[in-house]
Amino acid sequence: MIQRSPSIPSNFLFAGSDIKNFFHLFSKAPVGIAIYTGPSFILRFINDTTLEVWGKKREDILAKPLFEIFPELFHSDLAEIMNNVYKKAERFSAKGYEVNFLRNGETVTGYFDFILEPVLNTDGIIDIIAIASEITEEINNRKKIKEGEDRFRSLANEAPLFVWVTNENLQTTYINKTGLDYFGLDESMDLSALSWKKFIYSDDIERVLEIMFDSAKKHLPYTLEMRLKNGVTGKYRWFLDKGMPQYSNDKFTGFIGTSLDIQDRKEAEAILENRVMERTRELDNQNKLLKKQNDLVKKILDSTRDLIAVYDTDTRIIAINQSALEIFGNKEEEVIGKKLIEAFPQFSNSKNNDDLVKALDGETIHNDIYQSSVTGEYYENFLVPLRTDDNKIYAVLAMAHDNTNLINKNKELNEAQQIAQLASWDWNPDTNEVNWSEQMYHIYGYENERFPVTFEKALERMIPEDAEKVKQRMNEKIAEARQLFIEKGETIFNNPSIEYPIFLPDGSKKILRGAGKIILSPDGKVSVLDITENIKQLEELKKLNESDKLKSDFIKMASHELKTPVTSIKGYVQLLLTAINKDEDEKALSPLLIKSSLISIDKQTTRLTRLMSELLDLSKIETGKLELNKELFNLNELVIETVQDILYTNSKHTINIFHDFGCDIYGDKDRMGQVLINFLTNAIKYSPYSDKIEIWIKPSTKNYVSVSVKDYGIGIDKEDREKIFERFYRAQGKEEQTFPGFGIGLFIAKEIIQRHEGTIHLESEKGKGSVFTFTLPIAPPKK
Ligand code: ADP
Repeated sequence: MIQRSPSIPSNFLFAGSDIKNFFHLFSKAPVGIAIYTGPSFILRFINDTTLEVWGKKREDILAKPLFEIFPELFHSDLAEIMNNVYKKAERFSAKGYEVNFLRNGETVTGYFDFILEPVLNTDGIIDIIAIASEITEEINNRKKIKEGEDRFRSLANEAPLFVWVTNENLQTTYINKTGLDYFGLDESMDLSALSWKKFIYSDDIERVLEIMFDSAKKHLPYTLEMRLKNGVTGKYRWFLDKGMPQYSNDKFTGFIGTSLDIQDRKEAEAILENRVMERTRELDNQNKLLKKQNDLVKKILDSTRDLIAVYDTDTRIIAINQSALEIFGNKEEEVIGKKLIEAFPQFSNSKNNDDLVKALDGETIHNDIYQSSVTGEYYENFLVPLRTDDNKIYAVLAMAHDNTNLINKNKELNEAQQIAQLASWDWNPDTNEVNWSEQMYHIYGYENERFPVTFEKALERMIPEDAEKVKQRMNEKIAEARQLFIEKGETIFNNPSIEYPIFLPDGSKKILRGAGKIILSPDGKVSVLDITENIKQLEELKKLNESDKLKSDFIKMASHELKTPVTSIKGYVQLLLTAINKDEDEKALSPLLIKSSLISIDKQTTRLTRLMSELLDLSKIETGKLELNKELFNLNELVIETVQDILYTNSKHTINIFHDFGCDIYGDKDRMGQVLINFLTNAIKYSPYSDKIEIWIKPSTKNYVSVSVKDYGIGIDKEDREKIFERFYRAQGKEEQTFPGFGIGLFIAKEIIQRHEGTIHLESEKGKGSVFTFTLPIAPPKK
């Protein structure tokens, strides 16, 4: 930077006038000019520019030695340079010479281009002319640029993205370290010899070039995405590439740009995209399903014969099903969105419209039966307000079920009941209201009279005793039903059938059978539904229709049963008669034979009498004329007496009585004895291979006593067990048919026991034996 020039010619002189001109010329020169004289470099001349650079005033420094003006430079290189110029009279020049000096009280670093020119003045003394220009600003700027460049490079090198520069042919001339590392390149490589295309994913190349050329042409920056190959792993990753075209005098010179790895973002995007796609597919499927469901709901709504419509709060129809449309002969599009009475003017001033308004007010409407003023049909309908989550009514759902058929069916049912002589009634114990069907009035003999019926009124035609019983039994059953309702929540109970006679206004008598149900509504309300049939007529009907076989069986059996004892009696009587008609010498009949014949006749007569009384009883039961002569008697005594009677004629069997328990009964003693005899004779009759019979008297459920007759005989099949108490029924087995009997003994026994408020039942196993049991209410003990 410092150059020494060849020495100045020593003949260089200032003439007096020259100096004047010289000073004048230089004082305003734009470069700094100063003249020093003598070995201590006394300042002889200084121009304004120099004063400004120095930050001094002329009067303060003129005629002073240089290093007195700048004592800080006394030990500097500059002092040596000055001495050299003076001593050797050689010119010195420097460029960008750095000087640290005080300017306006501050140490500054200044850079100067200067020339020191030694001249010999008129006094023979060497002067040094210094010509200098300060270039501090230039140098600083240059420094700054370099610093900036260095910073850019180091930043670029550290940047997590690639920073690159290309030339006008798009050949990369610079790429930062991050980029070099990625592509697996070395800093020392000659980038201009590299083919960059091999790093770009082949599918992307064309697009990338197109965008870059377009950008260069339009003087606009570009942004694109492309895949670049990792030089180390050989795998491609996605990059976001941004470039800015550069120009010099409008001529394109290349791009400067960055590339950012966006693989992770891309992958995340892909995942997101997949999710979105999946979700879209899901939604799509859901939509399809929903549509299907909607179609289904519509199909369901349309397939029902019920009428369904939904109204908004303005009574506008928002949905309506096919059935409803068909009734009024409208098309859906004609009524949807219209108010009810706009769509169907028939409905103005109708109950239906009133109900709709009420439902919109929040009331749920249910009409059990209502006759539409529009169609004339009978409907059961509901109008239900639909509410939002915050309980606001937004619509009303209306449904109507056409009950015309049901009502007609009811009519038919009534007629059927009439034909079948069946009647029904229901009773609400809380209000005591009784509803009689038409047929009920007929059965009770009220042909034209109609009146509100109460429970008492219904009982009027019964025998007071029966009426009392019916009432009591009904109350008991209702209490039981209520209990079961509380305990188990059951709501329907069978009311066991009961038979009772009634007396008609004309004095005639009928036997009725009632069987029904007790129904409890969820709030515990009771209603009793009862079917009453006129048994007599029914029995006749039955006989006509189905009991032909039973009847012919009965006739066969009856004629056989009656013929047997009569034939045998006839035999003995003839035997005795012949004995009486014998001649005296003929051998007389032995008294023993006569006795045994008479005993046989007596036995057969008893049997005949029993058969006949059974038949008589049967007819009494059928005509309701079986009368009971009730009295208080001891049950145990009756059992003992009956057993003794039986044993009198049946000595083969042993009958043991087990009775730790004893009690009195209020009832018909003879009839009760008849039941016992029936049980015992059956036990004997149907135990051909066993001779053991037991009778047990035990307390039964509260206030009841049970009497059981147990045998070890042939037993009874399950099938037969169910029917054994029916009239004329006899067990079906071959063996059983060989035993004599009418099949009415147990029927009569059941009648008698039931008329005493008792129960009758049997347990049996085929081949092992049977236990017949009856229970009776215990009478309070005699006082
Ligand atoms: P029957 O006069 O025919 O004995 P019942 O009415 O007394 O008529 O009995 C009906 C039927 O019940 C009988 O025909 C018989 O088949 C059956 N039966 C009754 N008691 C017994 C018994 N102790 N063991 C087996 N079968 C019996």
